[in-house]
Amino acid sequence: MVDVAKNLKQVLDNLPEGVRLVAISKFHPNEYIQAAYDAGQRVFGESHEQELQKKVETLPKDIEWHFIGHLQTNKVKYIAPYISMIEAVDSFKLLKEINKQAAKHDRVVKVLLELHIAEEETKYGLTLDACRELLSDGAWREMKNVHICGLMMMASNVDDENQIRHEMTTAADFFDEVKANYFKNDPEFKERSWGMSHDYKIAVQCRSTLVRVGTAIFGPRVY
Ligand SMILES: *Cc1c(COP(=O)(O)O)cnc(C)c1O
Repeated sequence: MVDVAKNLKQVLDNLPEGVRLVAISKFHPNEYIQAAYDAGQRVFGESHEQELQKKVETLPKDIEWHFIGHLQTNKVKYIAPYISMIEAVDSFKLLKEINKQAAKHDRVVKVLLELHIAEEETKYGLTLDACRELLSDGAWREMKNVHICGLMMMASNVDDENQIRHEMTTAADFFDEVKANYFKNDPEFKERSWGMSHDYKIAVQCRSTLVRVGTAIFGPRVY
């Protein structure tokens, strides 16, 4: 078995104060998650609704679950009762559905808006202009059961550190723009979620507040 506790500590040692770790446990068994939990980790991220459901039922109740993957609107209802944060909101339609389903459970679900900055065509997310449009439209202000807490992005999957740095800095600068224009008086709008196993050390230099690290803690995923 992978030494989860040791790997976890190594990652945490690399995080400056103010940066939180989301341990990405998708495709990993409960015993790995429990090992990280026993070592003190409480925030975990998953990207498949059914897998998450099973884990929620069997693992400790004080785990804070983040949904990190692409979420179809018809799946929102399954995770609405318990999800703590939905990180990858990439459309107004999805935002609206989260608000509707969260209201049924009398909850406020935290969300991040996912930006598409990377070069890859396949990546989901809002372009900066689409994100500006969503916010300037203002309908989100009426949604009492979602709270927009920041931005999320995935940098291009490349070796070129400069490119990764450039993309993350673009996201960080855009965060400042959005914060100034729409969330100046909302202290909860504070999250910049970028950085994965291969680039989280760059991410923390580019003002990340949440890093989403899986492989470096749990080892390679077996699909
Ligand atoms: C799987 C995943 C991660 C974690 O990736 P690792 O390379 O295993 O650290 C982070 N963010 C998202 C959106 C993911 O889907």
